Amino acid sequence: MVDNSLSPHGGVLVERVAPLQAGDLDRIARFPRIPVRDQIARECVNIAYGFFSPLEGFMGPADLDSVARSMTLESGYIWSIPIVFDLSEAEVAQLGLKSGDSVLLTYQQQPLAVLEVEEIYSYDKEFLAQQVYGTTDEAHPGVQRTFTYQDKFVSGKVTLVNPPTINPPFDRYWQTPRQLRRTLAENDWNRVVAHQSRNVPHAGHEWLMKGAWFASEADGVLVSAVIGEKKPGDYIDEAIVLTHDLLREAGFFREGTHLTSTLMWDMRYAGPREAVFHALVRKNLGCTHHMFGRDHAGVGSYYDTYAAHRIFDDLPDLGIKSVLTLEWWYCPVCGSVTYEGLCGHREEKQDLAGTLIRRIIQGGEEPAPTTLRAEVLEVVRECAEKYGFGSPFVEDNYLQNRTPVMSMPTLEEDCTCTCTGND
Ligand SMILES: [Zn+2]
Repeated sequence: MVDNSLSPHGGVLVERVAPLQAGDLDRIARFPRIPVRDQIARECVNIAYGFFSPLEGFMGPADLDSVARSMTLESGYIWSIPIVFDLSEAEVAQLGLKSGDSVLLTYQQQPLAVLEVEEIYSYDKEFLAQQVYGTTDEAHPGVQRTFTYQDKFVSGKVTLVNPPTINPPFDRYWQTPRQLRRTLAENDWNRVVAHQSRNVPHAGHEWLMKGAWFASEADGVLVSAVIGEKKPGDYIDEAIVLTHDLLREAGFFREGTHLTSTLMWDMRYAGPREAVFHALVRKNLGCTHHMFGRDHAGVGSYYDTYAAHRIFDDLPDLGIKSVLTLEWWYCPVCGSVTYEGLCGHREEKQDLAGTLIRRIIQGGEEPAPTTLRAEVLEVVRECAEKYGFGSPFVEDNYLQNRTPVMSMPTLEEDCTCTCTGND
């Protein structure tokens, strides 16, 4: 019996990884070279390892237009978020880029991936923003990202030629979809519920994960921690990952029921469309269920609180089921986390989110297991010292001096001039 829910989106896990051999360096040395920014580097890695299956590269105009208009690829498969590689008109002209060329994308001054250029095109960014984000307001971070794309998009298949090294502490948590699927199989996890997180888990997150485990009769909960572009005030990546893992280590989840992993992704905050994207990526990781809470992947007040729940009603079966949660909070009468419609003390509710947890972490409030576990707080403080330059929240110092999540192995020696590389 074929269990559809376990196959990747599009049926086949894309893998486009071909590490360069010694003899290849001369061949690629002739390719035009394009240094890419962090976002594009992460997306090359995701494409190559199949996180974005069935995408094999950056989208061409037909796929992009179809995604914008009808949330499907040209092939008909559901896809909700544009994955594009942008260049300026001047860069395209300077490189003399044309269809059929192979270019070497470089990152951290090292080869990263080869892009086989298919089409070079423009697309109406306002229309794109309106379709994907439902707004053209530049205050929306996803819209802003769209508007800052250069004017040309270059499509084509991507092959990773220099797999990056994942640095500690992330190396223990980063698994490719193939590796993760193997891990899930070894654990006998047939039903796996994904929890997307960019947070240090407080009592409410723990309660929701446990509830989702029950609701989906899951073998295990896969925490898929989004680590990517950071802005001041976010939790540092290390704290997110290590505190989630602590929940298992400290036994709040029994060994074999909870696993922490990472996804290198720059949030688009596309609300319902991003929820669909999250579902597809976690399906590719081997998950059968995905948790969606209130205002999933939203920002500001651009989306209805439960738009990310309803969007799935209008889509065909994606092979991954939603586990939907409504509003939840701490109830002092029940003495526990509770749920909209569950207990009768709504007027007593204490929101767990945001400011309270921050006050605890910043030392102004005593932690309690009903809000934030002392063990979690301890790891947060360790992470602040070890990785965060004294703070568990992103500050300029962290942005400038942190150890990157991924580093490129040196394939090409540095230039021999006297420059330091810092200027
Ligand atoms: Zn209550």
